Amino acid sequence: MTATQDPTTQTTARRLTTPIPGPRSVELMARKHAAVAGGVGTTMPVFARRAHGGLVEDVDGNVLIDLGSGIAVTTVGSSAPRVVEAVQAQAAEFTHTCFMVTPYEGYVRVAERLNQLAPGDHEKRSVLFNSGAEAVENAVKIARHHTGRQAVVVVDHAYHGRTSLTMAMTAKSMPYKSGFGPFTPEVYRAPVSYPFRDGGLDGAEAAARTLDVVDKQVGADNVAAVVIEPIQGEGGFIVPAPGFLAALAAWCRDNGALFVADEVQTGFARTGAMFACEHDDVVPDLLVTAKGIAGGLPLSAVTGRAEVMDGVHAGGLGGTYGGNPLACAAALAVMETIEEEGLVARAREVEALLGGRLRDLAARDPRVGDVRGRGAMLAAELVRPGTTEPDAALAKAVAGRAHAEGVIVLTCGTYGNVLRFLPPLAITDAQLHEAFDVLEAAFAATPGE
Ligand SMILES: *Cc1c(COP(=O)(O)O)cnc(C)c1O
Repeated sequence: MTATQDPTTQTTARRLTTPIPGPRSVELMARKHAAVAGGVGTTMPVFARRAHGGLVEDVDGNVLIDLGSGIAVTTVGSSAPRVVEAVQAQAAEFTHTCFMVTPYEGYVRVAERLNQLAPGDHEKRSVLFNSGAEAVENAVKIARHHTGRQAVVVVDHAYHGRTSLTMAMTAKSMPYKSGFGPFTPEVYRAPVSYPFRDGGLDGAEAAARTLDVVDKQVGADNVAAVVIEPIQGEGGFIVPAPGFLAALAAWCRDNGALFVADEVQTGFARTGAMFACEHDDVVPDLLVTAKGIAGGLPLSAVTGRAEVMDGVHAGGLGGTYGGNPLACAAALAVMETIEEEGLVARAREVEALLGGRLRDLAARDPRVGDVRGRGAMLAAELVRPGTTEPDAALAKAVAGRAHAEGVIVLTCGTYGNVLRFLPPLAITDAQLHEAFDVLEAAFAATPGE
């Protein structure tokens, strides 16, 4: 069955046919517990059967509105028509040769497109991997090789992945690090700019605070790279104060370190720009991408200055599956979809609609302490009224009620008190409004203290 014949595309609205979770999902969850390692948690208690545009249908026939995009992955929509077609065509040709054995054009085309799209008009090169964490690790390898230095600077609330090195770079202990030490050495943490919790520091002041820690505790001469998410994802959708990122990038330039933007979550039209760095007029030395890059197929990339990237000896970078041909075909289809369907502009429309409704809610409900984000990457930070004291219980209760009503919404934040919104850009305005109506009802149904 092709995407266009799929019956779900006939459904344009949420539809609940059973309580959430329904009987089939309950049964599958029991099998999951018996078969899948307990360390893999799930947000929703339902199992997916198919998904298209802004909707996910579960195995009991419930149709849910998707405000998560599988964590910012299906930005062009799940099973976007161009992606389906490209992957089917590529699968019929070849599924793998290994780019390091007999290379193929798709990989080269993805690298060419990334080099065009990434900020800055300098000459660039790209290298492809499978996951965001793997790309972050490789950005660090490249930076260390280029600079001959070891220290990696990361910031508070950072999330960079769950592998050994990226776990050390990630800030939050539970659930990401707890019990998994020892952690890789030469990773240093400095403060970030977090306007809601910064006591009014502007971007320059916040950067001065960060760089003071780096200068005093790490030493500028030791720093290979500063790795930072231009808008922090798992840490709470934290948008730094204007000028903060530019000041860090300038410091890197002045001190021979590389500025590495981890745009795994923010990339590919998500924030109303192709890459979030563009909002701050920052040109990273290395750009790390994944998630939204290939519409759900596993692919990630490091794109950077040609002289930096080419400094690594042949064989120093790579991996069996990196730049898999199916994933490359999907990525090219994603980039075409973003362009042809004007999805950068669509992300800004989503920002206006959803951001407007979030701000209206915040004006009425003092438990919404902060509304922030860009494009289709928006969040509400929940607090005890009149304070900045995090209210994680409220975030959990509201998300749980929305889930029960058929809206997929995620939480995040170091304090677990942030509701985050990452709808696919294929979602309709009507679906966004309906999902937000559910969310407002969930707030109304959750009593304050
Ligand atoms: C998700 C994420 C990663 C890790 O990506 P995986 O594909 O899960 O390894 C790294 N950095 C950021 C900013 C992310 O959001």
